[in-house]
Amino acid sequence: MAFLYPFCLGKNHITSIYQQVENVCPYLLHFHILYGYLRDPLDKHKLIVDEDVRNVIRDVFTMYLENASMSEIARTLDRRGVLPPSQLKRSRKGQELNPNAVWGSQAVRSILTQELLTGHMVQGKTISYSHKLKKRIPLPREKWSIVRNTHKAIIDEETFNHVQSLLQKETRPKADVKTKTAPSLIAGFVVCADCGKQMLRTKTTKNGKAHYYFRCRTNKQLGSNACASHLIPEDIILDVLLASINSLVDALVDVEAALHRNASDEVRVMKKRLCLQLEKAVSERERIANTKAKVYHMYINKLDETLTKDAYDNLRENIEKMNAENEQKIGMLKKELDRVENVDEYKSEWMQDFGRYRGITELTREIIADLVERIVIGKDKTIHIEFKFRDELKQYLHS
Ligand SMILES: [Zn+2]
Repeated sequence: MAFLYPFCLGKNHITSIYQQVENVCPYLLHFHILYGYLRDPLDKHKLIVDEDVRNVIRDVFTMYLENASMSEIARTLDRRGVLPPSQLKRSRKGQELNPNAVWGSQAVRSILTQELLTGHMVQGKTISYSHKLKKRIPLPREKWSIVRNTHKAIIDEETFNHVQSLLQKETRPKADVKTKTAPSLIAGFVVCADCGKQMLRTKTTKNGKAHYYFRCRTNKQLGSNACASHLIPEDIILDVLLASINSLVDALVDVEAALHRNASDEVRVMKKRLCLQLEKAVSERERIANTKAKVYHMYINKLDETLTKDAYDNLRENIEKMNAENEQKIGMLKKELDRVENVDEYKSEWMQDFGRYRGITELTREIIADLVERIVIGKDKTIHIEFKFRDELKQYLHS
């Protein structure tokens, strides 16, 4: 229908064109412009380099490669009087600036990890578990859709990749300054079942080996009258967490497989029914043709004297009508069968993607942050993992 639009450019049609374009290249229209690029004023679907910040971005990469930490880079930018991205946006819109705004490590990190800077458009880094579970999970890189060379690069690919590999080596957040220990994977997730406060991580050293525990904050601050210690080794929480995540993933994959099996059964039944109907319609076609021939034979040979010309014409017309209806039915059934056969090929993409999370042997902060809401520790050291999407999950399991 697209060819019709130039001839009838009503307001609604223009909207339709817009929607069509949007369907073809949504990232171009809805793209959230990131630091380093601007929309081309001549073609708003294109990105152009923001020359005002090109050198800032290059400096950030250079400083990082020269071993500066994120916060050092942030401080350097502040010292040089470079406006943080949010403030730059405000100043360009003529809005009042926040005099206290400074560069943060997160802003630096997001520049260092922004693949867009290499000139490629990256889409689909996450996927939703299914349409029923709204939460999105990160996808492995090979599943991303990357449209190469959509715009001018600010950072060459080699430099970018090198920085990514350096960043990966420090995926664990910086060590806790006070205790000089690596922070816990589950920091911020562990909660006391009785007072509801976040639990604190404590370290003890036995025979030169460090052991980590979680302890109720209220207990530590106000004593055991206020709340019990709930003391529990970190290792145990991590073991339970890993096992729970694995069984959750297994359960979800099984549910999806079962749903898919049901769907296949339905498809099989439908297909069988359609085949029978088609068979019937095809034999009906034969029967109609035979009747037509028989009636013609009777009329031509004057075998029945009541079969006058008018009666014959009438009869023939009815037979033609019946035939046309039957042919239409055959066409529809064939189309329907075609469609059902394609449905049979359908394999749940979601299941395949989610299946990748099956059998993980190591937890990462990313996986935990993605799946876990809270880890609740009881007085009797029970560990209760609350997953982020338990309501949706319940709904899903009972649908
Ligand atoms: Zn407590």
